Amino acid sequence: MSEKSAIVVGAGIGGLTAALCIARAGLSVTLLERASIVREVGAGLQISPNASRVLIDLGLGNPLHSDAVAVERLRICSARTGGELNRIEFGTRAMPRYGSPYWVVHRADLQDALHQAAQREPRIDIHLGATLTAVDQNDTGASATVNIGGHEETFRADLLVGADGVWSSVRKLGLSLPGAAFTGRTAWRAIVPASEIPADFLRDSVVWFGDGVHLVHYPIHAGNEFNLVAIVNDDWNEEGWNAEGDREVLLSRFAGWPDRVRNLLSLPETWLKWALCGMPTGSPWYSGRVALLGDSAHAMLPFMAQGAAMAIEDGAVLGDLLSRSDDVENVLKRYQGLRRKRVERVIATALKNDRIYHLRGFPAAARDTALQLIPSERLLSRFDWIYGWQPPRPAAA
Ligand SMILES: Cc1cc2nc3c(=O)[nH]c(=O)nc-3n(C[C@H](O)[C@H](O)[C@H](O)COP(=O)(O)OP(=O)(O)OC[C@H]3O[C@@H](n4cnc5c(N)ncnc54)[C@H](O)[C@@H]3O)c2cc1C
Repeated sequence: MSEKSAIVVGAGIGGLTAALCIARAGLSVTLLERASIVREVGAGLQISPNASRVLIDLGLGNPLHSDAVAVERLRICSARTGGELNRIEFGTRAMPRYGSPYWVVHRADLQDALHQAAQREPRIDIHLGATLTAVDQNDTGASATVNIGGHEETFRADLLVGADGVWSSVRKLGLSLPGAAFTGRTAWRAIVPASEIPADFLRDSVVWFGDGVHLVHYPIHAGNEFNLVAIVNDDWNEEGWNAEGDREVLLSRFAGWPDRVRNLLSLPETWLKWALCGMPTGSPWYSGRVALLGDSAHAMLPFMAQGAAMAIEDGAVLGDLLSRSDDVENVLKRYQGLRRKRVERVIATALKNDRIYHLRGFPAAARDTALQLIPSERLLSRFDWIYGWQPPRPAAA
């Protein structure tokens, strides 16, 4: 096979993972990123075993081992009673079952580890401060034109991967597809020092259900920091898609919640709130030699904590297919065939969770009772189809 090349637009978690997997497949990669430094928002991320095993395969086990926290359990709690409804023992059950850890990480730690791995990879050429302005393709290749420091530059390769997130330009310029839509939910995120947090919250990932709102929290950054994400049914009247959130407004949405939870919500000085958006499902993920990956293909509600995990899986599958075939258009067709159904099942499950998490009144009480009765083992086995996913092994193996 002759040496092939790829352009990846976007150096988020999806783009960096894809660049590493494609380089592993033997292609040279041009990675184009709009930001002048690679940096993630200050927030946490849950990385389930289906994604952590891809990262470990890429050699990131060691750097992430010191920053990520392998949570011991997921605790499901009720704001109505203040008590725990059920728990999944990730430490003792998930690791032996799936063979890979359930991590919670600071996004910046994961992004740094991926970026450093990409910088070490001789086949990857990274251009920062490069904003995509045009996409083109013909029978032999694809091209990306970017604005770098006021000058236009065009890069050519055998294929182009748009990993440029929920407001993807590749989606618009390369595939002429409609973009993301607001879902009527906002996510409020904050990080506080772990020293301010009660000890019984420091080893676990915890989700609290309440009326029209829910809260997720977990430790990050080697356990030194604590991540809070509150999701509320909301309007969006701000300019842009994130804005500083008023703590008093957030607390008013959690009125009547147990004091120990309201105390947590009172800790952060500042909250950042985000409009949650979803991509329409059913649309193509590629056209000719241009493909979408990660949020640009399938931005979803975060109620399965799988958006980044699916982006990471996308990269592993695309890299594997490219390692096996020179026929780019056929590879992209197979990539869509292997990925879209699974991802759309995850999206549908996240939408179902949206309804379940935010129930009110009697249906909420019925949900809580049902959750108390389900054996914890069965709760975990419901996730087997997601967490038990295995990355394809390289052709030569
Ligand atoms: C509140 C919340 C909680 C979440 N929790 C989880 C979780 O626990 N687990 C999980 O797996 N997922 C979670 N997700 C989802 C996850 O954050 C996303 O799915 C993931 O970050 C998407 O990565 P990406 O690389 O596709 O896109 P992005 O991270 O958005 O990266 C896109 C990159 O493209 C660049 N770019 C954009 N436009 C251009 C352009 N024109 N030219 C050049 N570069 C460009 C951007 O600068 C950026 O670096 C959560 C999401 C939210 C909102």
